[in-house]
This record gives sequence, C-alpha cells and structure tokens, in this order.
Amino acid sequence: MKRIMIVDDSSTIRKLINYILRKKDYLITEAEDGLDALEKLIETKVDLVIADLNMPNMDGIELVKSLRNNFYHIDTPIIMLTTTRDENLKKSALEAGVNLFLNKPIQPNLLLYKVESLLEGEKNE
Ligand SMILES: [Mg+2]
Repeated sequence: MKRIMIVDDSSTIRKLINYILRKKDYLITEAEDGLDALEKLIETKVDLVIADLNMPNMDGIELVKSLRNNFYHIDTPIIMLTTTRDENLKKSALEAGVNLFLNKPIQPNLLLYKVESLLEGEKNE
C-alpha cells in the first residue's frame, strides 16, 4: 500500500485530504509544516507528498528544496496546494522541483486522479 504525506498548517485541510485519500486505501502521514514533515520523514517512508505552499516555520518551497537535495526524495512526487493569489510563487516552486499544482478549494476527484497518475508514473520508471 502506498503512503502519502499531507503537509498543511490547516488541520481542516489535512482532515479533508485524509478523508478523500482514504477512499482509495492510501496510508496517510500528516505534518503541520515543512519542519514537522522533514522530522517525520526521517522515520517514515512515503511514496508521494502533498504540501501546502504557505506555512509557518518552513513553507512549501523550502520543504521542496530540502526534499530535492535529499537522496531519498530526489524523485518523490510532490503535489503543491496553492491559491490563485500565489501565481508568482508557483514559478519558484516549479524551479524547486514541484511536480504539479492543485488549486484550493480542493476538488476530490481531481486530487485522486492526480495522485494516482503520479504514483503510476513512479512505478513505470
Ligand atoms: Mg497554509
């Protein structure tokens, strides 16, 4: 079974994504910001990361940079949650190594489809 990490400072959003992903039997690890995510990744292996862009302590872009500099996460698929206001930041996020963006509010079916596609792509490499 695939494990997905949800990184968002909003517990409501984490709960929502958790609820959506559990329909497809994914295992879930939650983290409340980039620092918390990095700490949890020391002991937990994940197949995909869904990260918010705006977070305290360590934001989404810093988290992505840190993951891409880590041997184990060079190729881990990363979906970033953004709002339409974040257009300029998206460029930095892409350069840092985000695979794709999903706009909030989250559309459950789109999220499931994108997660599945990214996990499939990983398997075919
Ligand atoms: Mg946030």
